[in-house]
Amino acid sequence: MPLSHRSAEPAPPSPSGCLRIAVLGSTGSVGVNTLEVIAASQGRFVPFLLAANRSTQALIQQAHACRPAWVVVVDSTAASEMSASDLPVGTRLAVGPEALDDLVQSPEVDRVVSAIVGAAGLRSTWAALEAGKTVALANKETLVMAGPLVMRLAERCGGTIVPVDSEHSAIHQALRAGMPAEVARIVLTASGGPFRERSRESLASVTSQEALKHPTWSMGPKITIDSATMMNKALELIEARWLFGVPAEKLGVLVHPQSIVHSMVEFVDGSVVAQLSPPDMKLPIQYALSYPQRFEGVARRFDFSTATRLDFEPPDPVRFPAVRLGYEAAARGGTCGAVLNAANEAAVQGFLDGQLRFTDIAEVCARVLNEHPFQPDPSLDDVRRLDGWARQEVVQWACV
Ligand code: MG
Repeated sequence: MPLSHRSAEPAPPSPSGCLRIAVLGSTGSVGVNTLEVIAASQGRFVPFLLAANRSTQALIQQAHACRPAWVVVVDSTAASEMSASDLPVGTRLAVGPEALDDLVQSPEVDRVVSAIVGAAGLRSTWAALEAGKTVALANKETLVMAGPLVMRLAERCGGTIVPVDSEHSAIHQALRAGMPAEVARIVLTASGGPFRERSRESLASVTSQEALKHPTWSMGPKITIDSATMMNKALELIEARWLFGVPAEKLGVLVHPQSIVHSMVEFVDGSVVAQLSPPDMKLPIQYALSYPQRFEGVARRFDFSTATRLDFEPPDPVRFPAVRLGYEAAARGGTCGAVLNAANEAAVQGFLDGQLRFTDIAEVCARVLNEHPFQPDPSLDDVRRLDGWARQEVVQWACV
């Protein structure tokens, strides 16, 4: 399979020169950072649509601050608590996932930021790619669950995916230094999370409070737990496998506690090209919106006047068994990504609810992955069915 980062160039801007942005998941961490990037863009980016699942109060505030043409509340129960009169003049309200699909496909949308957390993000990303949009993809589950289907859809409909995940943004940038056939290896860096130095024994008693404190990145609770278990890296391996069309054996992971080197590409001649910047999501978000151009922006800058250490070490497979599950799912493909992702979402919820221990998360995921009825070339329906099945399995396991 060829590397696909050169497949399609994003559509040109609207006649007025600005890019009209749909921000899906605007009240989450990536969404809030996206609005900062838009606000600082000097009119290059204009918010067209803001969508949230249930956070209506935050959405109303955002609408007053940036005055988009539309706000969409996906959850109809949450939407019933607000009315169109809560919104500023000129901003219209739409409700439900179908309305979101329709608006995302509108010709007035130039770029779609897909930042709805979890499996729920797949649907609207699919709608955007189906309409040939350029998607700034922050929702990694889309590619983890249905990578081959999503990449085929993008190719067929002329859609483009530019990753927002910092590692994949770094890889996307580094890949521009060579030809696809010249890539020898892709190395994803990992902060190692808050438990990088904890003993194996003490990991079983980790509390959700401890796990929710991330040393370098400020993110939502689900991804923060994933970072602590290193399941985040497992999901990112699968994401990279499909996004860049590289086989699993060309992918690697390296722990880099400073989170300055966001990932690297090694070419066949031995050159390693890396992307460096302080950890700040505004940079990969802006890159995904401005690509193939670069603009001045609001992301933090690297300070070359102070001494800086960059440390690297291989991840410990005994304390962080989740990483191996990522290699396995990336190598086997098929339904593995969807099953691992769903099992993990349910297990993280079980941990946050106090039903599972920290170390149970990777264990139950391994079990569900091994026992699932594997399909090598699933349809979207197969993926959805197994997603539900894997969640049930975890819930049952947690109750025993
Ligand atoms: Mg990441």
